[in-house]
Amino acid sequence: MAKELIQLVSLSKSYREGNSRRTVFHSLDAEFFAGDFVCITGRSGSGKSTLLNLISGIDLPDSGEIRLDGQDIGALGDGERTLIRRRKIGFVFQFFNLIPTLTVAENLRLPLELNRESAEGAEQKIEELVSRVGLSGREDSYPESLSGGEQQRVAIARALIHRPRIILADEPTGNLDQETGRDVLELMARMVREEGATMLMVSHSVEAARWADRLLRIDAGALSPVDGMD
Ligand code: ADP
Ligand code: MG
Repeated sequence: MAKELIQLVSLSKSYREGNSRRTVFHSLDAEFFAGDFVCITGRSGSGKSTLLNLISGIDLPDSGEIRLDGQDIGALGDGERTLIRRRKIGFVFQFFNLIPTLTVAENLRLPLELNRESAEGAEQKIEELVSRVGLSGREDSYPESLSGGEQQRVAIARALIHRPRIILADEPTGNLDQETGRDVLELMARMVREEGATMLMVSHSVEAARWADRLLRIDAGALSPVDGMD
């Protein structure tokens, strides 16, 4: 029986725009199950990034609930919400967002340190993840010396290294050429499946849709199923 992992209940979010407010979501309901691989599309400005930021607790709703494993993260304080995000969520961004002053290995160590993993355990995990993303030997390289595709592979390793149950990816191939993007998607999809994690990926790529169990579109603040990508 599939278990609800993420539940959005009557979620509303608006931003101030000059003297008025711009409503992104009004009373949005949605649920995502453990192991779900969901691809989300929608026009620019439709609220895709806002949705992922709300689920990760980076942004807060005006009203409604965001339940992770039944717990409403919006009702928690900043500190608790941060702890839950560090434990349960891995995030992959369009512009990789690696820390430029840290090496590959140090970038991967960060989420483990934040989760207070032991140093020995961390070294083993870093080695394993670097190898799984095909970057063995590049542990001491700095992000700027890597290609875009390589940086995104490091970012995928970073998102998965603490074994989160939820992976959020915001246009992860948006800054890569088509062929590199395809390789990165395949790697990420395979690794997320291996981990049995839940994936919510914002992407306009037809390739991404091929990996997904469900394809959703955000339009006028509503999430609805789509059959295929145009
Ligand atoms: P998408 O990722 O689908 O392109 P976003 O979620 O980034 O869309 O943005 C949805 C809408 O919310 C846009 O109109 C955007 O301008 C607005 N918005 C997003 N973040 C903010 C913010 N921090 N402050 C003000 N407006 C914002
Ligand atoms: Mg966006």
